[in-house]
Amino acid sequence: MSQQSQVDFFDGQDNRRRAVTVHVRDTLIIEAGDTVLARWPLADVRLMPSADGMARYRLAELASLARLEVTDEWLMAAIRRACPNLGRGNGAVASRRQTLRILGGALAAAASVLALVLYGLPLIADRLAPHIPPLIQHEIGEVSAKQLHERLKAPTCTDPHGQAVLDKLMVSLARAGHLTQPLRTRAIRTKLANALALPGGRVFVFSGLLDAAQTPDELAGVLAHELGHEAHYDSMRRLVESSGTGLLLGMILGDFTGSTSIAAAASSLINASYSRAAEQRADDFAIAVMTRLGRSPKPFGTLLARITKGQDIPAAMSLLADHPLTADRLANLTAHDTPTTAPPLLSTQDWLTLRGICGG
Ligand SMILES: [Zn+2]
Repeated sequence: MSQQSQVDFFDGQDNRRRAVTVHVRDTLIIEAGDTVLARWPLADVRLMPSADGMARYRLAELASLARLEVTDEWLMAAIRRACPNLGRGNGAVASRRQTLRILGGALAAAASVLALVLYGLPLIADRLAPHIPPLIQHEIGEVSAKQLHERLKAPTCTDPHGQAVLDKLMVSLARAGHLTQPLRTRAIRTKLANALALPGGRVFVFSGLLDAAQTPDELAGVLAHELGHEAHYDSMRRLVESSGTGLLLGMILGDFTGSTSIAAAASSLINASYSRAAEQRADDFAIAVMTRLGRSPKPFGTLLARITKGQDIPAAMSLLADHPLTADRLANLTAHDTPTTAPPLLSTQDWLTLRGICGG
């Protein structure tokens, strides 16, 4: 079967749009004039979301940024007939604007790898973390979340009412913190009193923390602190520091999704503690958020102190292992105590619903 038509092609190396001809044969042959630019295996072609009247295709390998834009209906139909897996694994990629942003991020990351070679890791981790393409952060978040579930044998709590309250609370906190990253927050069932922010906006609240918190402000303070880690890309930064150049080169060269380096790197996210400076910044973020919402950050300190005292659980994986509590931290939270000027962040009913998200 052969079909040709004029289409636009982005090769993923730069953001130039090339007019190409596409032949549907035993591979998808992409040509400019007489030059073959790419041959896409039919089984690897994926359809991406796009505007009406246009079809956008990518390769299955998420790290590949090459895109094909087709408006000709005959060609779309031919591709539909020839490519068996068009609809598989389509959740993560969106508009061209996002694609370009990913592309920009990849170029920034490539530049950073060069800088890394020249200047060394810790300095570059700071600069690089915010520029890692959202799609890659999303993937890393997914892999680490999976490992978290496996390691703790902690299932996700799925009560829809509790989830609705949790989402509502997170939206208020994120707005007050001017956070722009997309967030996905889940409660998981485990006795450990902890919360965790992973790359790609993935936040986990452990049911042990819901049990330990006595008021919405106590819990909100912890969640705002986790959002502080998201805002500063602390988990990406830690990942870059701990995994080094191998992972970065993998990202650039495309050997990324599902690779063993990412699995190893992601596991380093789950139970390493943050630096004192990162903790301080996340606390300052939480203080700013709570203050803007007309609430006090002090209950957050109260909760931390309570967890410290009643700690009959293993220190590893507790809130304090990931986020070491120091006298300075408590003093800082207490010093910013203010009289509340707004109603509680959750009604009594919502608070009870949220605490019951994992089944009481
Ligand atoms: Zn922390």
